[in-house]
Amino acid sequence: MITNSPKQTQKIAELLVKTITKDSNNPNIFALQGDLGAGKTTFIQGIAKALKIKEKILSPTFVIMKKFPLDKKLPFSELYHFDCYRFDQPQEVLVLGFKEIINNPKNIVFIEWPEKIKTLIPKNAIWINFEVVGKNKRSITIKK
Ligand code: ADP
Ligand code: MG
Repeated sequence: MITNSPKQTQKIAELLVKTITKDSNNPNIFALQGDLGAGKTTFIQGIAKALKIKEKILSPTFVIMKKFPLDKKLPFSELYHFDCYRFDQPQEVLVLGFKEIINNPKNIVFIEWPEKIKTLIPKNAIWINFEVVGKNKRSITIKK
């Protein structure tokens, strides 16, 4: 789908997360692929807003992983945001407890630059592709 503003991108994220968090059996690992500035972090900001996370979601240039506790009413207990841009080796993410995090069905996990750790992304992950189409236009494609 096409979005014409950061707000619209966040709205799409909001709609997606509302369906996911209906029940804990829904997919919980999302690989967000796309160039710098394509809207991956903006999308996660929309997710965070919908889940009433108060902390600001930043483009974590130096922070590789951030963990956000979720409202007790939700079927997931923690949201994790990974940004793998700076990794040279997929193994670098393992010291952060990546395996345990993705194997815990109570977590909901968003990964920017998943291609950097491609061999470690589980098969059940949902891949979402972001593309710059114009100044404020982005194309978002949900793959499986
Ligand atoms: P990424 O995490 O993919 O590097 P960011 O979300 O950090 O990208 O940055 C996207 C940039 O593009 C932001 O400055 C945002 O304001 C801008 N932008 C313009 N139009 C859109 C849109 N339709 N969707 C998302 N971001 C947009
Ligand atoms: Mg980003």
